Parts: sequence; structure tokens; C-alpha cells
Amino acid sequence: RKALPLPALIETEFADLVLHARGKVRDLYAVGEHLLLVATDRISAFDHVLGTGIPGKGKVLTQLSLFWFDFLKDVVPNHLITADVKQYPAELQPFAAELGGRSMLVKRAQMFPVECVVRGYLSGSGWKDYQATGAVCGIPLPAGLRESDRLPEPIFTPATKSLDGEHDINISFDEMVARVGAAKSEKLRSLTLAIYTKASAYAEERGLILADTKFEFGTTAEGIILADEVLTPDSSRFWPQDQYKPGGAQPSFDKQFVRDYLESIRWNKQAPAPSLPEDVVKRTQEKYLEAYRLLTGKSLSL
Ligand code: ATP
Ligand code: MG
Repeated sequence: RKALPLPALIETEFADLVLHARGKVRDLYAVGEHLLLVATDRISAFDHVLGTGIPGKGKVLTQLSLFWFDFLKDVVPNHLITADVKQYPAELQPFAAELGGRSMLVKRAQMFPVECVVRGYLSGSGWKDYQATGAVCGIPLPAGLRESDRLPEPIFTPATKSLDGEHDINISFDEMVARVGAAKSEKLRSLTLAIYTKASAYAEERGLILADTKFEFGTTAEGIILADEVLTPDSSRFWPQDQYKPGGAQPSFDKQFVRDYLESIRWNKQAPAPSLPEDVVKRTQEKYLEAYRLLTGKSLSL
């Protein structure tokens, strides 16, 4: 399959729209009482947005999130109003071409200041915590686990943003309770575990291990909803089942070419972040499209 030589959309700017925020990947606009989430083609690695985008990546993230919102709608309500540009308010119509496929009109939620992480396997910061303390976020685990091992059962390991806004810091469930209250913490934990159970079983049928993932929830007048992006390669670790080898790090499904390249040039991981050569961009684009194809069974035309 040939990657398409599209230009990457790095930053949006829509005359007369009110910019609400720019995240590492998404640009958010205020539209009446709602929010317009636009997934750009920006890519981050090691907590930095790189100098080169991945053409079409924002579309993959948006379309995958839409797939999962629908798949999970009986487990949890979500923030989606519509992703059909034709149904967007009149003020957005002049930008229909740029918004199509990579945007969602959503309910604006009061976001919880906690990232709801769930881990079915021992990797990343979970593996680091386990090596240091034998536990992850205060949850004790059996001795003798190896990196990338499957856990006896999925665990809820909340995190919070550090002051620099870049790194996430793992916190215990008790610390979460101190921040958002006991009843809400318990509700968020049970929703997170229920979503993981359903989504990881599905991913496994499609040949992918869902090692861990992060959800962001918020509150509206109607209660707690699932917001942001869901179960994308940016928010999750997906591992091809047929290459799974516990006892070491697993290759990252989507960003491995990027990481390998960044290691090869010995970037010090400080700003400014480097740009990527064209073949790394193309191979990474192919991996995002492959993730979409494997998970949904459909191919996405950019
Ligand atoms: P941040 O540090 O803000 O999380 P990020 O780099 O993860 O930055 P992006 O993922 O690019 O940010 O942007 C998405 C932002 O939009 C996040 O801050 C997320 O919390 C917020 N968000 C997502 N959905 C909603 C919603 N329904 N209502 C309000 N805010 C939302
Ligand atoms: Mg984000």
C-alpha cells in the first residue's frame, strides 16, 4: 500500500472563530456553547511536538475515536455531537473542506484533572514504578514480573499533569480521591476498567494487544461523559499479537520509526524538536493507516 503524498496540516487558523486552546495535537475552537475539536497532523515524541507532521494523522485519530465512541456507547456516554460537517453550524461551513474527517463538534465538559489510565500489561511508567517499588500507583503486584508481561488483571493507574504540563505523574487512587472525591473516583475507575475490558477483547480478536490506554472524562449537566480522543495509537499502546515477546520493551506500533530515527540522531530531547526525513514520515503514516485498518476492518482514504 502506497502512502499518499499529502501535505501535513500543522496548525489551523479559521478567521472569526474563537480559539479556545491548542494542545500538542488538537486545536480547539469555541462554537456557541460547544467545542470544535480539530485533530491536526502534529506528532509528538518524548513529550515534544516534532518539526514535521504526519499527513492524514489527524484524520486517523478522529475516525478511530468515532469508531470507538460508537462501539462503546452502551458502556459510557461521550461528548460527540456530530462529526458530519454538513450538520455543523453555519459559521463553520466556510471551513468545511479543512474540517472534514478530522474534526468533531462536541459538548464542552468540565474536565477532571486526572488522566484515567488502565494497564493490562507492564510497560512504560508502569514498568518503571514496578521495578522501583514492586507496585504501580500503589497497587502491589506479584514479584518476578518481566517488562511487558500481562498482569493478573487490568489495573487502574491514574495520573496527573506535572506543572510544566508535559509529563504525566502517576498518583495513587487515594490521591485521586483527594482531588476529585471518592464517589467520582470510584465511578471513573469502574468506567475505565469496563471500557478496557470491552475494547481489549475486541482488539485481541483483531490481532492486537491493548497493553494500556488513557481516557479523559468530563462532566456536563447530564453527568460524566467520555471526552477527548479514545483508544488511538496516540493514547494507547497497541502491540501486534504475533510479535509479542515479554521480557523486554515491545516495538511501538505507530511511532517506532520516529523513535528509532530520533535515537539515531542522538537528539538531546530538549526543544527545539527535530524534523523527520520523508521516508520516516511515510512509514509512520502507513502505520497509522494500518492501525485504523486492523481495528476497524476498513481502509481509510485520506
Ligand atoms: P493537554 O495538556 O491540554 O491535555 P494535549 O497535548 O493532550 O494537552 P490535545 O490532546 O492536543 O492536548 O488537545 C485536547 C485537549 O482538549 C485536552 O486538553 C483535553 O482535555 C481537552 N478536551 C477534550 N475533549 C473536551 C471536551 N469535551 N470539553 C472540554 N475539553 C476537552
Ligand atoms: Mg491529549
